[in-house]
Order: sequence, then C-alpha cells, then structure tokens
Amino acid sequence: MKKRRLVSFVLLILLLFTSCTYGTNQTESTNAESALQTAQFHFIDVGQGDCALIRSGDTNIMIDAGTRESGSIICEYLSNLGIDYLDCFIGTHPHEDHMGGGAAVLLGVDVGNVYLNGETTTSYFFERFVDVLIDKEITPYIPDLGIEYDIGPFKLEFLSPQKDFGNSNDNSLVLTVKYGDVTALYTGDAERSVEAELIKNGENINADILKVSHHGSRYASSVEFLNKVSPSVAVISSGSGNSYGHPHKEALERIEKCGAEILRCDREGTVVLSTDGKEVYNASGEAFEKREESEQRQVYIGNRKSKVFHCETCPNLPGNKNRVIFNKRENAVMAGYSVCGNCNP
Ligand SMILES: [Zn+2]
Ligand SMILES: [Zn+2]
Repeated sequence: MKKRRLVSFVLLILLLFTSCTYGTNQTESTNAESALQTAQFHFIDVGQGDCALIRSGDTNIMIDAGTRESGSIICEYLSNLGIDYLDCFIGTHPHEDHMGGGAAVLLGVDVGNVYLNGETTTSYFFERFVDVLIDKEITPYIPDLGIEYDIGPFKLEFLSPQKDFGNSNDNSLVLTVKYGDVTALYTGDAERSVEAELIKNGENINADILKVSHHGSRYASSVEFLNKVSPSVAVISSGSGNSYGHPHKEALERIEKCGAEILRCDREGTVVLSTDGKEVYNASGEAFEKREESEQRQVYIGNRKSKVFHCETCPNLPGNKNRVIFNKRENAVMAGYSVCGNCNP
C-alpha cells in the first residue's frame, strides 16, 4: 500500500515535468498594475515551523503549513479571514515543521495549484498529504526555475534548488513574491551553500521582506547573502523555547548588523505586514525604511595559525600578528582556510 502510494506520487510528478508549462504559465495579467490595491504578507504563528500566507483581494497564496498540530490552527486562521480557496499552495520541502499541516489545509480549503520540490518521504504526515492530493485529484507541480508565474496581482519566481544539494533543507524551494515594487523572499530551510550558489549565479535576491531561513539557524543568513538581499524587515518563524535554540544569536547579530528590522513569531505571535506596492508597513501602519542593496565591501580575516577565516564582526578574531586579510571569500578558500563555525563567513 505504502509503495503503491509512493509510486502513484512519482507518476504524478513525472506527469508534471511534461505538463507544467501548460498548467502554470498564466497569461500576462494586463490590468494588474492599474488595479493594484493592497496586499498582506502573513507569517502565521505555528510554533517551531513555517507557514506564510500572502493575499490581495481574493488572491491567496500559502507557503508551507507548519506542523501536524498546527493544521487546525491554520484552518481556523483561514476561516477567520473568510478564506475557503487558496490559488496556490507551495510546500518548500517535506519536513514535518513545514508540511505537517498540509493535509489538514488541503482538507479545509480548496486549492488551485500545488508546488513541491519533488522530494518524497514515507513519514506519516507526507503520506497523508499525498493521500489527500490523490483523493482531491490535485496534481502537484515541480515549478520551473527562472520563469515568472502570475498569480492574481503577484509575480512568483522560483530561484532554487538549481541542483541537488544532498539534503532536504538545502533542497527547499526558494522564491520571490513581487507585488508592485515590493519583493518578499522566502527561503524555506536553505542554508549557506544555497545562499552562496544564488550569489554565484547572480540571482536577483534583493528584497524588502525576508523570511529568514531555517528559523534563524546560525548556518544560514551569511553576511554576504544579507547584504545582497538588503531587507527592510526580516521575519523569523520559530517556536519559543524550541529545542534547537532557534533563532541562534550569531544569525540575529548578522541580521541586525545588515540593517533590517527583525520581527519574531516566537515573541510577537503572528506577524502581518502590508503593502501598497511601494512601501511595507507594520501592524501599526508605520512604513519600514527602504534600503538599497548594500555596496559594502566584505573583508575576511584569516588566522595564520588555525587556518580558519572569519568575518570582521566575529568574536573569535585572531590577534593582530596572526591575521591575514582576504578581500574575497574565495581567496580564503583557495588559500586552504576553512570557515569559522561561529560567524559562518
Ligand atoms: Zn527542514
Ligand atoms: Zn524547518
């Protein structure tokens, strides 16, 4: 039974590779620009997990659906807003803290398109999710990278994974959602190797709103990445007192240093940002400061003795006589230096 379910899922996925161009390339919305009203970016408090809702008018998009326990919380949240239809559900990767509530959401509301990263697992929550997909005759898609998907007034672009990174977190779907001049970047649980890849490939990751990766793990949110994104506001979705210690102090320091305002679901509960397509406002209606991509040149400091290199702000910098300065990260790597586990340069 288990096997059959997986096989049918794999078949579904195969189908999508061939059909997704027809199913998802919607025509250019002609009057979206002129009809631009307001949009909201919700980061629903699901404890230790991710669940984002993006809406404008009757267009609703959900990215991830928290844990199994949070399924009913999400359904209640949608029902309180009078939402009974999601134009699109995106599951960044099949981990229980991102798709645990997926089956409940699919049962609670109707869904247009479902986008997944193509990975499967035999965990109970995911098999339930696939069962509901099959029951409701919904065919999931693996999105194409580098193509703009028009969903109501929103433009979605999937940027990653561009290759198999060898672990589920790094294989998360990473995407930008644009509304007018405002961009939000959703990173799933992707960590530094994905950030480096996006920068290396010259992807446009500049964004006003950043959904901080992996609940604020120290292994994500590198200085280089944050400077490129240059967010006005960074939202961290993690549960208070979680066993991973998320968000980690090092990541918080780097995000703070990059100039973004930090909002945390573990402290404030659900975070709702709104926009008119030009500015981003907090719940009190105050606009966040607009920021340009930081031109700040990054310098890396190596320790001659330990052959480890750090960013300038690391608390573990070597004494002056053991310092080697690298102007580029790759120069440090080429010189045989390894990254500091603390500052994650
Ligand atoms: Zn994960
Ligand atoms: Zn996660």
